[in-house]
Amino acid sequence: MTYETEYPTLTTSPLAIYIHIPFCAKHCAYCDFNTYVEKLQSDLVQNTVLAICHDIRANSNSRPISSIFFGGGTPTFLSGENLELIINTVFDNFDVSRDAEISSEANPGSSDAQKFQKMHSAGFNRLSIGVQSFDDELLVALDRFHTSDEAESALIAARAAGFENLNLDLMFGLPKQNLDHWGATLERAISIGTEHLSLYALTLEPGTRFERLQAGGKLELPEEDIELEMYERCIYQLTHAGYEHYEVSNFAKPGYRSRHNQVYWRNEEYLGFGPGAVSYMDGRRWKRERLPVRYIRKMNLTEDLAVESEALDFDGQLGETMMLGLRLIDGLPLARIRDRFGIEPLVEFAAQIDSLSSNGLLELENDVLKLTHRGLLLANTVLAEFLP
Ligand code: SF4
Repeated sequence: MTYETEYPTLTTSPLAIYIHIPFCAKHCAYCDFNTYVEKLQSDLVQNTVLAICHDIRANSNSRPISSIFFGGGTPTFLSGENLELIINTVFDNFDVSRDAEISSEANPGSSDAQKFQKMHSAGFNRLSIGVQSFDDELLVALDRFHTSDEAESALIAARAAGFENLNLDLMFGLPKQNLDHWGATLERAISIGTEHLSLYALTLEPGTRFERLQAGGKLELPEEDIELEMYERCIYQLTHAGYEHYEVSNFAKPGYRSRHNQVYWRNEEYLGFGPGAVSYMDGRRWKRERLPVRYIRKMNLTEDLAVESEALDFDGQLGETMMLGLRLIDGLPLARIRDRFGIEPLVEFAAQIDSLSSNGLLELENDVLKLTHRGLLLANTVLAEFLP
């Protein structure tokens, strides 16, 4: 196979920044993220904050920054002062666009009005609040340490602090959850009226309490067809309430699609800072040291922080760009693939496109390839077909 360009280059496009805060006040039963339960005042927390700032200073880049996202873990586990210190370090070392989207995940159990005010005045302009459910029994089952009323209070406090762009995370397919529970949670979310909603089906990750319960036959999960009905119900309820379904798991009011996540779905470049953070640039993906204590030590000794590094070949980048781009409900304009990779996707992926289209899972219209409604229900299986 010959290509017009050997490697796609994105070096002139804006860059996104991800910052990983690897601490939580309590561990949730389903979570396998790189996070550790710590005390807020511990030296480890403070030294991690300082190491993240050092990491940011040591890796500045002149490209404009279009979005910054604080994830975790629980970014709001940190004090408002520490969040401000980190964001100011980014401002001082990067060319952050004036209209950049600056988001942070927030946990209702570790957020208050004062912290939100501090974050807003420091420059954060979007919060993503991990509510997960408005059913208190389910919140207990998930090991969340907040109630549904506390979650709603956090959203009210975020508004009062001046945030005009709020996301709410919800989960479905939870133990003993039925369609009525899910419908009620969706109704409450709609009535609160955040600009954005991210809705994820529970997945059982290795090493979690839920996985152990499942292995012991002690986790009563909804059947697969009920879970699919839950997914269809959220599409129905949210689109009827005025949200645009713009990505497999994401809904937004007009004008409020997440800019940062669109960087991932377009397979564009980003830099990650903090323990375990992933970066993707120049066709290479690498992950920083996961354990905070090792991350701090390596940072202090100015050793290389990358513990896993993968050079993606041409086919890998092309396949990932197809797979991620097709997650967007508007579909993937094939011109974008031609421009970036110099290949003809209708030839390169002829077998996959023919087979998935004839099975009613994909459709091609005006040179845009997209999932059908049926394809959406089977998205993970369909999209994996494009990987090498
Ligand atoms: S709060 Fe979030 S990151 Fe922390 S344990 Fe729970 S799900 Fe994981």
